[in-house]
Amino acid sequence: MIVVLMGSPGAGKGTQACRIADGLGVPHLSTGDMLRQAVAEGTEVGRKADTYMRSGSLVPDGIMLGLIGEVVERPECERGFVLDGFPRSLPQAEGLDRILERHGLAVDVVVLLDIDKEAAVSRILSRLSCACCCAVYNALTHPPPRADGACGRCGALLTSRTDDNRDTVARRFEQYRALTEPTIEYYRSCGRLRTVDAGGSIEEVGRAVSALIAEIGAL
Ligand code: AMP
Repeated sequence: MIVVLMGSPGAGKGTQACRIADGLGVPHLSTGDMLRQAVAEGTEVGRKADTYMRSGSLVPDGIMLGLIGEVVERPECERGFVLDGFPRSLPQAEGLDRILERHGLAVDVVVLLDIDKEAAVSRILSRLSCACCCAVYNALTHPPPRADGACGRCGALLTSRTDDNRDTVARRFEQYRALTEPTIEYYRSCGRLRTVDAGGSIEEVGRAVSALIAEIGAL
């Protein structure tokens, strides 16, 4: 099954994508995580992406389509995957359809995590991430389980993402409105979009998303 998770910054895409991927037994493909890893490793893609990411701008479509085109061909993606943070623009959505079509595949469902901006910004500003295994916590709603505040999964130090500050967040919302919202309309117009209220707890949203995925899988 191929699932695309969409939603504004702070909607909870990473958290929910991880749960869906675990449930389906398929890879969780987060373009944000891939790019942060590329930046940390100093690869060519990482060097190109770094400036855009720091300012909260989208990395150019050509770079993103190159990255995704390569990843979806990996054997572990044969049974499907969950995309988190991609596509984020109309050219990316159209490019993804072309890439999948070449393999006789298509996106099965696009889940939009719907949340109001104020709640999303508050989530972002209290977010803690593990740069090592990409686990995500939230100082208010999902605190790290260890007394020393380290990552509960791998024990590494948790930090705030460098782009989780007020200025960059404002730019990320602008980009979302200008470039990503038209992508949502693209999926809505072709009947592939399903919306879930993402304002609840991780568990509540997770149950709604799982029910939706089960329903689609049963179609
Ligand atoms: P995220 O972890 O999904 O919030 O992404 C962090 C940053 O990575 C974004 O603000 C963009 O700069 C970049 N990025 C991630 N995914 C994409 C994408 N599909 N298209 C363009 N830029 C992206």
